[in-house]
Amino acid sequence: MPPEMKCPFCASLVPDWHFEWHSREDQQAIITGEKAMQCPLCSAGVAFDGFTVTKSEEVVAQRNIRQAARWARLQNKSLSDYLQTREGQPYSEFWSEAEVRSADNLAAAEPE
Ligand SMILES: [Zn+2]
Repeated sequence: MPPEMKCPFCASLVPDWHFEWHSREDQQAIITGEKAMQCPLCSAGVAFDGFTVTKSEEVVAQRNIRQAARWARLQNKSLSDYLQTREGQPYSEFWSEAEVRSADNLAAAEPE
């Protein structure tokens, strides 16, 4: 989430912004406006107040691969599979294949 919102910089439709892929600390900082989310398509920093995305000049928070792999597991997929889908594809360049594989293994080893 938030889904299907246009980036205020590049005007591309981002299928899913994956706010929930940030660490808990970063999620808090984004909501309070101290940090920005990164547009997966143009890398610009975008503010997110819980509802909508707007332009931001704050420091860009990086999405957390462990968080992303845990999220994918909750959807009963691996992050590796998710990154091949339409929604996941914009994020496919974020991490190397080896990093994704290792995060998937760690997520699979965690208790539900
Ligand atoms: Zn953008």
